[in-house]
Amino acid sequence: MEKITSFTIDHIKLVPGIYVSRKDTVGKEVITTFDLRLTNPNEEPVMNTAEIHTIEHLAATFLRNHPDFGAKTIYFGPMGCRTGFYLLLAGDYASEDIVPLVTEMFSFISNFEGDVPGASAKDCGNYLDMNLPMAKYVAKKYLTEVLGQITEQQLIYPE
Ligand SMILES: [Zn+2]
Repeated sequence: MEKITSFTIDHIKLVPGIYVSRKDTVGKEVITTFDLRLTNPNEEPVMNTAEIHTIEHLAATFLRNHPDFGAKTIYFGPMGCRTGFYLLLAGDYASEDIVPLVTEMFSFISNFEGDVPGASAKDCGNYLDMNLPMAKYVAKKYLTEVLGQITEQQLIYPE
């Protein structure tokens, strides 16, 4: 079988950032898939599933309620390697276009207080597997170490 595009990225050179993973055309609409990379692949510890799960619930809630991007949000979910997330938006975007959105989203997560949306037995398949304090820690780290001072190298995949 052919090696799929996301396995052709050089994960040794890849650093935390926001990248366009791929663009797909469905009908007349372009769908942009973003790679929101939070940890340095194979260089630092990955996120644990509980904080990933909490970020997934909070980010999905944030995105679906967003006045500009709510209707454009196709999907938000974790990478199996636990180093980041995929965000799929309807529209043709560059990674720098969504720096404000991603900053707003991780600010929302880092400041979140109260019950995690959807964290109940009725709404989720593993609702006890949540860690809000670690989700907030991870979100704040991404905000301060990556999003607040993002460089060109962190917006375009390494050659
Ligand atoms: Zn869940």
